Amino acid sequence: MNTYKAPVRDMSFALFDVLEANALYQRLGIDAAQRDVLDAVLEEAAKFNETVLAPLMAVGDREGCTLDPATGAVTTPTGFKEAYAQFVDGGWAGITAPEALGGMGLPESFGVLMKEMIDAANLSWGNYPLLSHGATEALKHHGEPWQQEVFLKAIVEGRWTGTMCLTEPHCGSDLGLMKTRAEPSGDGQYAVTGTKIFITGGEHDFTDNIIHLVLARLPDAPAGTKGISLFIVPKMKVSRDGTVGERNAVRCGSIEHKMGIHGSVTCLMNFDGAEGHLIGQPNKGLHAMLTMMNTARLAVGIQGLGLIDRAYQNALRYSRDRLQMRSASGAKEPSKPADPIIVHPDIRRMLLTSKALGEGSRLLAYHAATLVDIMERTSDDAERKQADDLLSFLTPIVKACLTEWSVECTYNSLQCFGGHGYVAEWGMEQLSRDARITTIYEGTTQIQALDLLGRKVMQQQGAGLKQFFGMVQQLCEENISNPALAEFIGPLAMLAKEYADTTMAIGKRAAANPDEIGAASVDYLFYSGYVALAYWWTKSVAVAEAGAYPEGFKAAKRETARFYFARILPRTRTHKAGIEAGAASLLALDEALFDS
Ligand SMILES: Cc1cc2nc3c(=O)[nH]c(=O)nc-3n(C[C@H](O)[C@H](O)[C@H](O)COP(=O)(O)OP(=O)(O)OC[C@H]3O[C@@H](n4cnc5c(N)ncnc54)[C@H](O)[C@@H]3O)c2cc1C
Repeated sequence: MNTYKAPVRDMSFALFDVLEANALYQRLGIDAAQRDVLDAVLEEAAKFNETVLAPLMAVGDREGCTLDPATGAVTTPTGFKEAYAQFVDGGWAGITAPEALGGMGLPESFGVLMKEMIDAANLSWGNYPLLSHGATEALKHHGEPWQQEVFLKAIVEGRWTGTMCLTEPHCGSDLGLMKTRAEPSGDGQYAVTGTKIFITGGEHDFTDNIIHLVLARLPDAPAGTKGISLFIVPKMKVSRDGTVGERNAVRCGSIEHKMGIHGSVTCLMNFDGAEGHLIGQPNKGLHAMLTMMNTARLAVGIQGLGLIDRAYQNALRYSRDRLQMRSASGAKEPSKPADPIIVHPDIRRMLLTSKALGEGSRLLAYHAATLVDIMERTSDDAERKQADDLLSFLTPIVKACLTEWSVECTYNSLQCFGGHGYVAEWGMEQLSRDARITTIYEGTTQIQALDLLGRKVMQQQGAGLKQFFGMVQQLCEENISNPALAEFIGPLAMLAKEYADTTMAIGKRAAANPDEIGAASVDYLFYSGYVALAYWWTKSVAVAEAGAYPEGFKAAKRETARFYFARILPRTRTHKAGIEAGAASLLALDEALFDS
């Protein structure tokens, strides 16, 4: 059976020891974030995820969601609705929302621990609160006071959920192609008409009302992304005083049959002159939606992290139990008919890859979340700007690398089970199928790569990248004479220098040929991710060696870091070669000759 145990110890090590979150929370004046309170919340969160959500993972996959075509109602898998009620009763829906809105007021960087647990326990179920969290952020930053009072509070309390309606049949990555219309109806409201596809949580049975955040065009809107506005379109109409009225003209037309995440409903939504309320300024919808999308991008990166960990935990347990063949260097368990497969080097390669990518990713993602806290809570404008620049740079790396690594690690973990991984009984094939969507929704890996190299590095003069170099330099300087780190510091410093040179070289080539950005972008994204993890593994060893941890814990960090530097970091060589190969070999073949 596929099970989950929250890795509370490594989570605490990452957040409190390596990232020193306590000091940050104190400095930012987050009163709710006292360490004893956080430890207690973490324990409760682990219990909820291990015992309520994790056992429903397979149920969700088996049953999926069903649509009643006559009414447009969707039924979620057995137990999902009840788990949501428990989630709301426990106050989890508003864990990071401001106390004034009925939330717990805890930092975002603490909320990601709960988020990681949810995604590992039950990714499909986790998509419903994920979308609500995105809607919370958009309404918090851009909603009018009455919209916050009426819609935001209800979402924070978990009474209603949110969705994000961008995609249309002809418009996915390129939002400028959007056609959905919003006509003013004369009473300060709008009539929204159009079809949105692939809408997660567009219809379900968790709550009575669903708040759709919909991108649409006003009648006089300019073409492209400059003419997009954002609207609140509730399933049940709601007046300004919060009174819930009749059914709005929005309906689920069909649901998708998918490779994975069967418990997470994916809807085609028809808006037929539905009552909508503008959020923010006309034609500035993309800006408002970006708040939601950035939150959601980090959140999808965390999905990758959760999947890596769940698959790893199960593969590790199986590899210790499963007896097949003897170790090449002599029997390790002579009393048994064969050795456990964990003695075999290649099983260890697969397990260690997940451990190294998983624990490294945890730091990368949690660090990004601390930047969200700084941005939201600091009173120092310069500090906010710095955090914003670094977060903008890190977001596409977190989103794309952690999800791509989750595809790799769930496949590796499945492989540890041999044929037993391929059949449904052990739940490993589900994890592999569920992981696949994470590299696609919330902007594909290609779109994240273009965002990283084209916008965050080239257009913004590498503001975030320069800060990352500063972090590397500081770590290297602090540990220049630390013998425990010598083997990591040297390669890390050389790589940072190479990273800067490589970036400059792409910039020069792109000035002559803009296609060089697209040609280098995905290799550059992975290269960035591997260098980032080299930093976090070095930092992990530094903290572990300096602290009063059990010797086994220190050894695990040290040896995993060694594995990372020896076996994973060399992937940067291939990506560098890809970057340097440039656009020529990609563009030389005439399109008409692809099938010749
Ligand atoms: C299960 C599921 C849930 C979803 N949930 C939601 C949701 O809640 N709300 C919502 O609005 N949408 C949702 N989506 C839609 C999702 O965000 C889109 O599918 C995704 O953004 C890609 O758009 P597309 O499918 O139209 O692909 P396209 O944009 O058509 O892209 C096709 C391929 O071309 C590549 N490509 C496009 N442009 C470039 C370029 N310039 N350079 C290199 N490659 C490029 C893409 O990476 C991709 O590989 C969901 C999708 C699925 C499958």
